[in-house]
Amino acid sequence: MKIHTARRTHGFTESVIRMMTRLSNEHGAINLSQGFPDFESPDTLKIGAARAIYDDVNQYAITWGAKRYRDALAARYHDWYGLDVDPEAHLTITCGATEAMMAVLLAIVDPGEEVIVFEPFYENYGPDTTLCDATPVFVPLTAEWRIDFDRLRAAFSDRTRAIIVNTPNNPTGRVFTRDELEKIAILCQEFDAYAITDEVYEHILYDGARHIPMATLPGMRDRTITISAASKTFAVTGWRMGTIVAHPELSDAIRKVHDFLTVGAAAPLQEGVATGLEMLPPSYYEGLADVYGAKRDLFYPALVEAGFHCRKPEGAYYVLADFSDLSDLPDDEFAFWLTRTVGVAPVPGSSFFHNPEDGRRLVRFAFCKTEALLEQAAERLVTVRARV
Ligand code: GLN
Repeated sequence: MKIHTARRTHGFTESVIRMMTRLSNEHGAINLSQGFPDFESPDTLKIGAARAIYDDVNQYAITWGAKRYRDALAARYHDWYGLDVDPEAHLTITCGATEAMMAVLLAIVDPGEEVIVFEPFYENYGPDTTLCDATPVFVPLTAEWRIDFDRLRAAFSDRTRAIIVNTPNNPTGRVFTRDELEKIAILCQEFDAYAITDEVYEHILYDGARHIPMATLPGMRDRTITISAASKTFAVTGWRMGTIVAHPELSDAIRKVHDFLTVGAAAPLQEGVATGLEMLPPSYYEGLADVYGAKRDLFYPALVEAGFHCRKPEGAYYVLADFSDLSDLPDDEFAFWLTRTVGVAPVPGSSFFHNPEDGRRLVRFAFCKTEALLEQAAERLVTVRARV
């Protein structure tokens, strides 16, 4: 029998991020590849979810999200950003931000339309656009990971349906400034395009920076689709709890796609997140900057000392590091070597670029790990120079 698979899958490779986790496990390395915490999630959420299972909240939730979760999230959006979110009309709960991005693109982009993606980019955005038969238009950030607005303007056209904006940014650690966001917003309005934001690191910003949701900028409320998740905020990446805030008519289309893709996110886990959103005080969210900031302040100098060139992350929990002074190997071989020989697993940089050559000198490290583990990783990385 001749096996047939759809053309849309032919360009896909296995997720490099998840492949590195497997390689790391095989070699017993310290896994700084896939961005997930190795420490405990808040008891409030765990107890909330466990109680929901015992209370038999075990059947389908409302397809666009349990009312309690939507109500609690809407209240927090108001506290955090002064955003008025109607839980009945604006909010959809999905299986992680991953499904959220897919459902949004399927709901708003027609085949052949263009979606602008900054580069380097989180590896899902390319396949996401391909799956809805859209054309990704990549706009490289500068060497400092800033936006080149001439290039950005040149990327917009009457075919542009949307731009994906991820701040705080994975993998660069950039936090786009208000000025940068405003310039993007002006282009969206001029070309009648949507901003689809990925704000999953919204509470992880350093040095006193505050997150600015695109939806709060003038003229952007109705043309922004705000995606976030519980994963990073509450260290529950395995729960797959994503959220979408969008104009009611957009939400209507998004909810239909979401319904047919998944029916809904796990009902008892939605109760768990709702419990967290209801009960955790503002200091919990404010404290995330200190928790992750301490990790950054331990790990970033260690990378510099080890001979990597990198920019200090302003937010999120990744560092994209240039290893040119340490090795001539291409990024994937260097990442494999580091995993096998040094015992620290990063992600090869090429997985964040559509042209792999652009990431050949880079690897990404995730530092959302206990300080003890990061110290151990630092001790290993400082030996790299002597080993190559
Ligand atoms: N967002 C995380 C990362 O970039 C997890 C990726 C994934 O496995 N979906 O590492």
